[in-house]
Amino acid sequence: MIIGVPREIKNNEYRVGLTAAGVHELTHAGHEVLVEASAGLGAGVRDEDFAEAGARIVPDAADVWGGAEMVVKVKEPLPSEQALLRAGQILFTYLHLAADESLTRAVLDSGTTAIAYETVQRADRSLPLLAPMSAIAGRLATQVAAYHLIKPLGGSGVLMGGVPGTSEAKVLVIGGGVVGEQAAVMANGLHADVTVMDVNLARLQEIATVHSGAILTRYSTRLDLSEMIRQADVVIGSVLIPGRRAPKLVTDEMVSTMKPGSVLVDVAIDQGGCFEGSHATTHDAPTFRVHDTNFYCVANMPGSVPVTATAALTHATLPYVMRIAGSGWRDALRADAALAKGLNAHAGTLTNTGVGEAHGIDA
Ligand code: NAD
Repeated sequence: MIIGVPREIKNNEYRVGLTAAGVHELTHAGHEVLVEASAGLGAGVRDEDFAEAGARIVPDAADVWGGAEMVVKVKEPLPSEQALLRAGQILFTYLHLAADESLTRAVLDSGTTAIAYETVQRADRSLPLLAPMSAIAGRLATQVAAYHLIKPLGGSGVLMGGVPGTSEAKVLVIGGGVVGEQAAVMANGLHADVTVMDVNLARLQEIATVHSGAILTRYSTRLDLSEMIRQADVVIGSVLIPGRRAPKLVTDEMVSTMKPGSVLVDVAIDQGGCFEGSHATTHDAPTFRVHDTNFYCVANMPGSVPVTATAALTHATLPYVMRIAGSGWRDALRADAALAKGLNAHAGTLTNTGVGEAHGIDA
């Protein structure tokens, strides 16, 4: 199969769809890989590295989209890329269609076969292609929260872990999945006082057992949530209902009860955000004020650590890319129920019910 890797064009997105090692696996298996010139530079992969791995470097995006049978990338297609989508081609990337109706319509109008990383799901409900980026975003969420607590950035002036004899910051993590657990682990590593809230009791039990009391857990009801938010120095929002818009759990009224300079990181912003006052921001201007608190709502957090993120992403996607390239998408999906859940659209038909419900389109 001919596989294409375009350069990512989203603001401050430096990741690339495959590492040179990933390209090498594909060319070794007899596939052809087209890589857009400079596509890997932000992730530390030079054109020469891709070429040595067997890729053909092509000058621009249109060459990749025009020549490839499957396009492997990172972020959803932006308008200039949407114009290049076409029937008979496989698009394998993060799509997050539930949060974007105009993109959904562009995908459907093009007739492309869209397989979304974030809806590939195993029988145990885990999301193998979201997990590596979630782990990165979770770890980063605590890093950025710790940084934005400093006074010069409008923070409350509390040091995350305090020092002996002072109070540590109270960190509340809402949603104890992959993002939430990694955020909590990092906050605990900084010696903060960490509580994870979730509505999945089994998940809370797992976190309590694995971290043997170092991370506190609390079942999330509206009442408990508002009480915990009032006390928190940092709130990290990391809930997910797969394929759907995030529920708005943290209201503006709850935020109004927080201490001035508190920091709220809405990691779930790529699914619409789980705080009422959230709107997506970029790495250029990542925060805004709500009731004298700092909101951080960057939708592509892992893009800021592209070397780690590109390697982690390729490690997760490559087995699926190899299978689709090896046997074609129909057989690959038939053979793997997890991958089949990734199909969001084919030939103008929507194939994901969550996306359909979000936009009132039949699926
Ligand atoms: P996950 O499925 O592992 O975890 C989600 C958790 O939310 C689950 O434990 C679930 O029980 C819990 N949850 C669901 N509804 C809840 C509710 N009402 N109250 C409390 N908890 C609830 O998902 P994840 O991989 O941790 O991803 C979390 C979010 O982070 C997703 O929206 C994902 O797209 C997003 N994400 C964002 C970025 C970014 O750059 N901003 C990067 C990676 C992931």
